[in-house]
Amino acid sequence: MDEPLLTLLASDEPAPFSVAHAEGASPFFLTGDHAGRRLPRRLSDLGLPEAELQRHIAWDIGAAGLARALADRLDAFLILQTYSRLAIDCNRSVDAPTSIVTVSEATPIPGNRGLSPAAAAARAREIFWPYHDRIVAELDRRQDSGRPTVLVAIHSFTPVFKGVARPWHAGVLYNRDARFARPLLELLRQEGDLTVGDNEPYAISDDSDYGIPVHGERRGLPHVELEIRQDLIAEPAGQRAWAERLARLLPAALEQLSLARTAGEGGERSETGEGLAGDG
Ligand SMILES: [Zn+2]
Repeated sequence: MDEPLLTLLASDEPAPFSVAHAEGASPFFLTGDHAGRRLPRRLSDLGLPEAELQRHIAWDIGAAGLARALADRLDAFLILQTYSRLAIDCNRSVDAPTSIVTVSEATPIPGNRGLSPAAAAARAREIFWPYHDRIVAELDRRQDSGRPTVLVAIHSFTPVFKGVARPWHAGVLYNRDARFARPLLELLRQEGDLTVGDNEPYAISDDSDYGIPVHGERRGLPHVELEIRQDLIAEPAGQRAWAERLARLLPAALEQLSLARTAGEGGERSETGEGLAGDG
């Protein structure tokens, strides 16, 4: 039974995550689960042509650039996943059937077929867990020092999915706790030039998500998952424009949440009854 562990990443390959503004002063805590499109060398190209690896099935196009620009403006902690979601999806439980997909949208992923348990475990051990362990460590640290935290998961969605064009510019996603999502959704709609999805084009669930249910809901942290349409943020100019917009609206939404709490009318409290993490 003493099989040697399979290793995935070679010593000269990049770490599975990168962090910016590690000591950022902002209450906002930004994550990019699908920010990267790199594949571990050992996985080669997963049997896919380069064109497929540049598509949205491999990563959230534009999300990393937007997240970096936003983190810069807010001075917010930011963690980005380095590797493609096709290696392992960092916004799924490792037990979920969609953790390592064999088909994405309509594209079969040959390199993920017939994966041995040891090979799947290596992806979880070397990509998924280091990323989430770093998030947990940072959130623990902030909690211990009484720092308020609002978790913002940055994603992007393809303008056309399975042949159907999507009307939204952005989507505000939440599940059990809409405390922060609700004011942000309202503010985005008040911008006047946007079609904003309310739990569109996706809704958060424990099966289809990991970051928000685990790091947001279970900790009682205010949170939101943001989905921006990829054609709007594919280039640096669009990333900057959206970063400007969100750097304005995220603090405004937090202000509304704080006012609602002060007035004792925060009707969207988390199940734990906790407010901002800074409450202890
Ligand atoms: Zn995503």
